[in-house]
Amino acid sequence: MDDFKLLEETLNDAIARAELEGQTCGLKHSAGDPAENHFAVDYLCQDLGDPRTGDISSQIRIPVCQECVDALYDEEWILAYCVYCHKSQWINRSHAKIEHPLGNGVYWLDVCPFCAEIVTEYKEDKDG
Ligand SMILES: [Zn+2]
Ligand SMILES: [Zn+2]
Repeated sequence: MDDFKLLEETLNDAIARAELEGQTCGLKHSAGDPAENHFAVDYLCQDLGDPRTGDISSQIRIPVCQECVDALYDEEWILAYCVYCHKSQWINRSHAKIEHPLGNGVYWLDVCPFCAEIVTEYKEDKDG
């Protein structure tokens, strides 16, 4: 039973790695060194759903490069990722305007300033 589970995990891992081939980083890099220059080595995964019920409605999987993996493990850097428009922003903890609690390395935003307007329009459309 455990052997099977291990095999399954190994296979899943192998499949994920094969899918990564040729993929570039899905997170923000500087304009002079865009994400297209960085090949993905892993995925950043997050389950999306209702936190009150624990229901998972979907999962996002973002290909990330080694540089971003390192930053994700670095307490100095916080990642803000918008699940709506897939824009991301790195926040440097020591330069941040507000204090961020330690241990929270990634903020998953339902909506960010870039797409707030679009979402508002969409909601008005749906409600009215
Ligand atoms: Zn990257
Ligand atoms: Zn957004």
